[in-house]
Amino acid sequence: LGERLVVKNPGDELGRLASTLNAMLDRIDRAFVATRRFTADAAHELKTPVASIRAEAEVALAARRSPEDYEETLRSVVEEAARLGRLADRMLELSREDSGAAPPRRTMRLDDAVREAVAAARGAATRAGLDLRLEDLPDADVDGDHEGLRQAFADLLDNAIKYTPAGGSITVRGGLADGRAAVEVSDTGVGIPGDALPRLYDRFYRADPSRSRRTGGVGLGLSIAKAVVERHGGTIDVESVPGSGSTFRVSLPVDPASSRRPR
Ligand code: ADP
Repeated sequence: LGERLVVKNPGDELGRLASTLNAMLDRIDRAFVATRRFTADAAHELKTPVASIRAEAEVALAARRSPEDYEETLRSVVEEAARLGRLADRMLELSREDSGAAPPRRTMRLDDAVREAVAAARGAATRAGLDLRLEDLPDADVDGDHEGLRQAFADLLDNAIKYTPAGGSITVRGGLADGRAAVEVSDTGVGIPGDALPRLYDRFYRADPSRSRRTGGVGLGLSIAKAVVERHGGTIDVESVPGSGSTFRVSLPVDPASSRRPR
């Protein structure tokens, strides 16, 4: 879509129409570029586990091996297949967000969704040698999709666990201010370098690709979390100090229709 309309008189009606059409063409161009990049990145993400499954299986077929060696091969094939499964699941979630066919929203307690995500993360945090603390949460109803928001907090917690070395801690807390409810997930982990911050929510972007792969990440968690939060009229921000930790903060509008009701 290289062509653009010539705008002779930007002030008159035709000029304004031409500028509007040009702006639309720019947006379509950007969408095409993003789609092409996503397809290329997704193909690359699929190739890596498939190549490794194939290589493992070929080596196993090439020569007689001990049962222990076969077992080792199968273990890594299962691991790579599991990664492919996770990748497919997350790509489906992303395509649901893109399609605009989001699940219905209803009045829900934000703190319930956060508590569920924290409870589900507790086992993984303990296994990773991390102290997971839940402090005050906003006492708030939001007009939301419970499952989508629970998953977004689950992803933030999953990252906090993956990117925090044993012995560290993760703290979840929140509050209400100016008609918005905020929830923070802080960790004492590896942190994120400043130059990675602008691309953090890009699909398949990883600040540290080897750590992400080692911990089973597929590089889509934050882009899905951001899409879900933005669909609710919310924002997601991060503050991070490399070497000492990160804080992800989700802020959502409180449901104006709901008066505070007792639990
Ligand atoms: P991944 O599956 O790689 O974790 P995400 O989309 O969830 O993908 O996150 C993108 C990248 O952001 C990660 O690869 C990691 O480099 C960085 N990141 C996300 N959360 C944290 C965190 N709590 N601490 C440090 N780095 C993080």
